[in-house]
Amino acid sequence: MDRTHLLNKLWEYQYQFGFVSDEAVSIISKKLNVSNIEIESVISFYHFFHKEPTGKHTIYLNNSIISELKGFEAIKAAFEKETGCTFDEQGNDEFSLFETSCIGLNDQEPAALINFMPFTGLTPKKVKLIIQKIRNGENVKDFASNVKSNIQYIPKDDKAIIFRPYEMGASIKEGLKHSPQEIIDKIYKSKLKGCGGAFFDVGYKWQSCKNNEADEKFIICNADEGEPGTFKDRAIFQHLPGLIIEGMVLAGYAVGAKEGVIYLRAEYQFFKEELEVLIQEFKNQNFLGKNIQGVNEFDFNIRIQLGAGSYVCGAASGLIESMEGRRGEPPVRAWSATKHGFKHKPTVVNNVESLAYASRIIELGEDFFLSMGTPKTPGTKLISISGDVAKPGIYEIEYGTSIRELLGIEMSQATAPYFVQVSGPSGEPVSPSEFDRRICMEDILCGGSFMVFNRTRDILHILRNFMEFFKEESCGVCTPCRAGNFILNEKIKKMQRGLASTIEIEEIKKWGNIIKISSRCGLGKSSPNSLIYSLDKFKEYFNLKIAPDNELQYVEFDMEAAVSEFDSIIKDTQL
Ligand code: SF4
Repeated sequence: MDRTHLLNKLWEYQYQFGFVSDEAVSIISKKLNVSNIEIESVISFYHFFHKEPTGKHTIYLNNSIISELKGFEAIKAAFEKETGCTFDEQGNDEFSLFETSCIGLNDQEPAALINFMPFTGLTPKKVKLIIQKIRNGENVKDFASNVKSNIQYIPKDDKAIIFRPYEMGASIKEGLKHSPQEIIDKIYKSKLKGCGGAFFDVGYKWQSCKNNEADEKFIICNADEGEPGTFKDRAIFQHLPGLIIEGMVLAGYAVGAKEGVIYLRAEYQFFKEELEVLIQEFKNQNFLGKNIQGVNEFDFNIRIQLGAGSYVCGAASGLIESMEGRRGEPPVRAWSATKHGFKHKPTVVNNVESLAYASRIIELGEDFFLSMGTPKTPGTKLISISGDVAKPGIYEIEYGTSIRELLGIEMSQATAPYFVQVSGPSGEPVSPSEFDRRICMEDILCGGSFMVFNRTRDILHILRNFMEFFKEESCGVCTPCRAGNFILNEKIKKMQRGLASTIEIEEIKKWGNIIKISSRCGLGKSSPNSLIYSLDKFKEYFNLKIAPDNELQYVEFDMEAAVSEFDSIIKDTQL
């Protein structure tokens, strides 16, 4: 047994005892031949591993911005009152309370995980009831929320690509009529882009992995969607998980891999058992296993690897470090997974949604995919919409759909939106004057998170939540990201106190660019985006927040003046 089993071993102890003791570390150290100190450092990296006892019930309450809009503070107070514990401090024998970043349930906030079972739409009354039930000895599995996939919109006239009727094995059967190279050619021709946020060409990735000769290759499904506001992959797992498995099988066939791994974020482990049952069903039907569907020597199997809570593991480099039993810190060296990926073997890492689309492209044909969308981004895209909208949930939209359409009466039904965050905190905020921009490569891309804020929401409050998130999730190995995000957060706080001047604005831009240019991975390269964009796009708002340069004093925020200012900005905006 090698250190690639480390995370699983740590989970065994975490489940059984609620923490990983010194004794457990020593046992694992001997079994995996990894030093105690290395194991300690891995434990300290992940949010969901603990070195101190946590009690029988660990409660993780989502503190993302959407949760805040929907009543986070009241729920936090209710949990503390009912359990007698304090968040992020030592709990008691029964409970421990922790705040955590987005758990993929922004369409049903406020939400929490209790022993990793989901509880959604929380109210103080509900919290009281939940804690009573636990005290009465009921198992949280028996009364957890029944989380739905919450699909709100699909293209009309039978044009949906993902959310259309599904027949088990259809794409595998179709794919096996073709040679591996033909499969890659079809994906390449479809221009399918990675759907996790990087938009890398999927066909190119598969071809590159195929071209690299090796005795072993791997297909990894990146199911660690951690960008706040994203929950589209959750919807695919809940509604059409077979598409993900089929996409992996086809990728394995195309590149010559025999092993697939689903790296499932720990927050989604409430559907892990169902997924395992489905994988078994695929084996029973010979869509997984040996000589799949009679194709000689085409063997492919899938296992699930649980993550343990880390945003940077959502990027391929951090994910592979994590799978190899290390801290999920992105490596320094220039890196290509398709050459030296998992265990230094050629590896395809594709996001859940990308694999689901690959499966549909093979089943329906690349021409069907190409008949929709824009020249550079054909097809459809799944968007998770949350915030100040009447219909939060999953939207399958044709590429080229405008932000105005997404917000409008036919879709999410937003009320007086003025700050729309496209692609999560690492993406781009959009003001009302930009609502005609279109979601596509030619204009603005969206990895999946689409958060809507109306004019009563305070922009600095939103930006501070984002920056706290990046500060918390920075792995800390490079100084610009570790220190820079801290500095930006302090600047935001200064603005909130009315103590910032225009010099601050210039400094924020300067620091932001330093962080972007000199950070090693995507977190640092994108963390200042929202703040920097906002300064330019919401000048009227920031003008109200800034003291004149020669008069650095406390400035009372005049809400009435701000609201009337925003009224005038958006009065012509008809959605
Ligand atoms: Fe870690 Fe931030 Fe550097 Fe990425 S940019 S490697 S998260 S410190």
